[in-house]
Amino acid sequence: MILILKPDIEADSREYKDLMAHLDALENIQISVHREVGTQQVLTEVYLVGNTSQLSTEDMASLPGVERVVRVSEAYRVLGRHRDDNRPTSFTYNGLHFGQDNLHIFAGLCAVDNRKHVELMMKALQAHGLQCTRMGAYKPRTNPYSFQGHGKECLPYVFELAGKYGIKVIAMEITHEAHIDEIKAALEQTGNPTGIMLQIGTRNTQNFELLKKVGRQQEFPVLLKRGFGITLEESLNAAEYLASEGNRKVIFGLRGMKTNMGDPHRNFVDFAHVPVIKRLTRMPVCIDPSHSVGSRDADPDGILDIMHVIAQGVIAGANMILVDFHPVPSKALVDGPQALTLEELPYFLEDVHIARRAYEDRVSLIRRSKA
Ligand code: PEP
Ligand code: MN
Repeated sequence: MILILKPDIEADSREYKDLMAHLDALENIQISVHREVGTQQVLTEVYLVGNTSQLSTEDMASLPGVERVVRVSEAYRVLGRHRDDNRPTSFTYNGLHFGQDNLHIFAGLCAVDNRKHVELMMKALQAHGLQCTRMGAYKPRTNPYSFQGHGKECLPYVFELAGKYGIKVIAMEITHEAHIDEIKAALEQTGNPTGIMLQIGTRNTQNFELLKKVGRQQEFPVLLKRGFGITLEESLNAAEYLASEGNRKVIFGLRGMKTNMGDPHRNFVDFAHVPVIKRLTRMPVCIDPSHSVGSRDADPDGILDIMHVIAQGVIAGANMILVDFHPVPSKALVDGPQALTLEELPYFLEDVHIARRAYEDRVSLIRRSKA
């Protein structure tokens, strides 16, 4: 059960103290308090865990300081959508709104290779009015002899260039908690020119200790990729790990499932799950067409499979696209064969726009037909 308290309630107020005294006296109930400091107000939620079936919703709603009560029936206590649950399905980070109601494009390098390519990429993004990108510094590779990413060495120039080209959020995978400190140090060193969305890759979806560490910090939002060989439920529970530790600025990323049933695609594309995740949880949903499809194969009309699956995800309501681009894909150190080129960027944006408009039309249509 979640008690949503009146906005801006102070921990030393009479109301709050009376409420806590009452809750402390409940038997077999554990209490945890979550405070979310927003730009407008501070929201306080009190989680009651244990034998909550003995508690009446009405009684709890009448306690001092309580505005609303949400009874949580199942899993995904924090991130789930529950009955009578009108908690937000969005968050703001570095001035950008991320929600189930809008769409962000994170086009960029799978792996940072050199300064020149980072600059060409970011310059192109700025020229097209984009403020987000992806930049891989820590690369989890199947083969130990493959390029492992430049790690912390590249962070200062990546962040400086982001500042120069107006990039507000960089999605960056981390594979170890130490990477969070390296990112923080590099941001500080360069004067905080940009924001970072920490990405948990598919190989770490169930790395629970990493999830707990990332969940305990609230500075950076998190993009959690679905595990490539586990159920959707298991991956959503992984997201809940982040939130249960305190960080609820979480975006859930679909990137395809590892099975040869998806051949000839690199992974079996799972974007039909976009609406499922939006129904079960309050998380914005990201699609990664590059790692799902894994090639630049095209249909007889010339439309790339990557573009088709983007359209499929966006027309189903996806809120973020994480997509590999490279100025010279033949020189990319990781995943060049699936990268789109900078020349394709305007075409890509127009195609995404068509799919997004179609999604919005579909939403209007269902509203009209229900009215
Ligand atoms: C990536 O986005 O660079 C990546 C490695 O993705 P995934 O974890 O989905 O394989
Ligand atoms: Mn990759």
